[in-house]
Amino acid sequence: MKKTALITGSTSGIGLAIAKAFAGEGYNIMFHGLEENGEEISRKVGKENNIKTAFSNANLLDPGAIENLVETAISNFGSIEVLINNAGIQYVSPVADFPLEKWNAIIAINLSSVFIASKAIWNSMKENKFGRIINISSVHGLRASEFKAAYVAAKHGVIGLTKVLALEGAGDNITCNAICPGYVKTPLVEGQIKDQAKAHQLTEEEVVKNIMLKKQAVKEFIPEDKIAELAIFLAMDNASSITGSAYTLDGGWTAQ
Ligand code: NAD
Repeated sequence: MKKTALITGSTSGIGLAIAKAFAGEGYNIMFHGLEENGEEISRKVGKENNIKTAFSNANLLDPGAIENLVETAISNFGSIEVLINNAGIQYVSPVADFPLEKWNAIIAINLSSVFIASKAIWNSMKENKFGRIINISSVHGLRASEFKAAYVAAKHGVIGLTKVLALEGAGDNITCNAICPGYVKTPLVEGQIKDQAKAHQLTEEEVVKNIMLKKQAVKEFIPEDKIAELAIFLAMDNASSITGSAYTLDGGWTAQ
């Protein structure tokens, strides 16, 4: 039987790289994201890999839409073996000016959606005695940087939630792990490069070298396909003993 992966935020950046890698391994894919060409991406990846795909643009700010996304995925594919909670947003501001609505949106999308999607899929994974939940946290789930109050709080929260889900899933072959990447050059980060260049009056090259990659020992962006490889490993049947962990993929950032 083909397994199916539901990947939030899979029509852009890291999520798309993960979706393509899982498709290459023969998984069916439930695509999700707000990108306008989501349907087209879903069809193309399905055709190229001879797998079944579907697409949803559920807004993760809406708890009902998240539940609906999970229900639709289960009814479309019969079952979902792998849930990858990947979608996320960023906002950068000193705490004194940090808008409450940005805080609320980041907590909702980056943290609460992980809880709501995992809760919605839980009983189905439990009945199937198989589940792999992989949460894309961040190096900011383990370390802080200034001006990222909401993002750092949410990503730390994701790691805490990952541990609880791992404990609760242990008797039913449901594992839950987090992946904590350093900087990856995706649309999310390209936006930050532009914002920081403006804020610090630096060139974009200077922002990358002197600010973004300052804390990474390896002075290169993390390639998206390396994150996808780790996710594929964590989803394997044989990875059943690996649970409750937060895997860094951060070019040595947290080694310091
Ligand atoms: P991205 O901007 O390329 O993709 C984010 C995805 O989330 C998109 O598909 C977008 O449509 C979706 N999304 C955002 N808000 C949504 C909403 N309200 N409802 C539904 N979907 C929504 O970003 P990315 O860099 O690929 O980030 C993916 C994940 O990886 C995020 O959780 C991010 O925090 C994490 N991460 C990124 C980096 C990095 O350097 N890029 C580093 C560490 C962790």
